[in-house]
Amino acid sequence: MSSPTQAEIAADADVYRTVLREWLEEGHADAWRDSYQYDIEASIKNNGKLVKLLFESGVGAYGWPVEAGALGGGSLHLATLFDELSRRGIPIPEHYGVLTTLGPPLVRYAPELAKLYLAAFLRGEEWWGQSFSEPEAGSDMASLRCRATPVDGGYRVNGQKIWTSHGVGAKKIVLLARTGTPESRHRGLTLFLIDSDTPGLEIRPIALANGRNELAEVFFDDVFVPTERRIGAEDEGWAIAMYLLQFERGLWAWLRAGVLMNRLGELARTVEPTDAAKARIGELYLDVAALRARAAETAKELADNGEVGPGASVDKLLLGAAEVGMLNAARELLGDTFLYGDTADRWREEWWWSRTTTIYGGAAEAQRQIIADRVLNLPKEPRK
Ligand SMILES: Cc1cc2nc3c(=O)[nH]c(=O)nc-3n(C[C@H](O)[C@H](O)[C@H](O)COP(=O)(O)OP(=O)(O)OC[C@H]3O[C@@H](n4cnc5c(N)ncnc54)[C@H](O)[C@@H]3O)c2cc1C
Repeated sequence: MSSPTQAEIAADADVYRTVLREWLEEGHADAWRDSYQYDIEASIKNNGKLVKLLFESGVGAYGWPVEAGALGGGSLHLATLFDELSRRGIPIPEHYGVLTTLGPPLVRYAPELAKLYLAAFLRGEEWWGQSFSEPEAGSDMASLRCRATPVDGGYRVNGQKIWTSHGVGAKKIVLLARTGTPESRHRGLTLFLIDSDTPGLEIRPIALANGRNELAEVFFDDVFVPTERRIGAEDEGWAIAMYLLQFERGLWAWLRAGVLMNRLGELARTVEPTDAAKARIGELYLDVAALRARAAETAKELADNGEVGPGASVDKLLLGAAEVGMLNAARELLGDTFLYGDTADRWREEWWWSRTTTIYGGAAEAQRQIIADRVLNLPKEPRK
């Protein structure tokens, strides 16, 4: 039988899975199997080589439009890639987490920018940061103050951002800034794509409790951004950010579900198989399986309709519960292995990381609020 064409692979994620499996079974990515680096910069560098290999061989170039330098396909292709990598214990490069969040809004709201810049990210040659949160604007994103003031040919940006994931080393920053009046709340926000080496822009690392420099502060001191670097229209930033968050909550949950299933397998192989341990692992399996089932539906909906709306908050909650539950169990069941063994660094780092899953992408309390108001349409609480 002849090999499927690019168009056939792009049109059908099952065909893509077959092609991807064949490629992986030939051993091309085996050097990365079970690899892990505590140092986040080293990890990004090493995994960037895998992104490049996947893209240049073709199998990692699906899930993105041809116009952006890729081979076509959509969310289901990305979901398939994450699934096949994690099934084999191959790390899902950090790049994909950021790409699945920042790529879709760029493709939809700024196709010209996607055409010019997305390919370097897809090839693993650079990664970008997402700078929305501020020291006093996290859950309440509509209160952000970093300002982009219109000037001749573009905007001047002044202000501060915080908690930008993988901000250190990011080549570009996707910035959400205020263009309206201070009182305009969600109506006065605009999104930009900014080169991190623009004069006046400074990135400072923040180490997480696990010791990794995963986050960063970003400072803007009169940074000039040309109008062509705006993503969408002026003051349209809130709608685009909401579009983006569906991917950050939905497709990311699917990505993490694959990783968690793999780590659960490792946990099951490592712990002493007492009845209590087996029962606990069985419960964790159900949590991760529920997360996978839900996130699979979300990935399908994103592929069919391009959006899922506020329902992605459910995925985010399930992810938080599964990840925190699993790493708490690892800490209790692994005993000395968690504290001192050969794999202790990794388990402990993952335990610390799991504390963040109920915060990033919108804190769990905020997700419950969204579900109550916008999914279940519950009546508002009476004012006290
Ligand atoms: C690992 C990690 C990665 C991150 N990556 C990024 C990134 O790349 N880009 C970016 O822009 N941001 C990023 N963030 C920031 C993240 O989006 C914010 O931390 C999050 O939105 C919460 O905001 P906050 O930290 O200001 O907490 P706050 O909003 O101050 O919340 C503090 C507490 O109060 C609760 N709370 C707040 N409002 C309500 C309410 N209305 N009802 C009930 N409870 C409420 C919260 O749930 C939380 O428990 C990241 C955070 C982490 C931990």
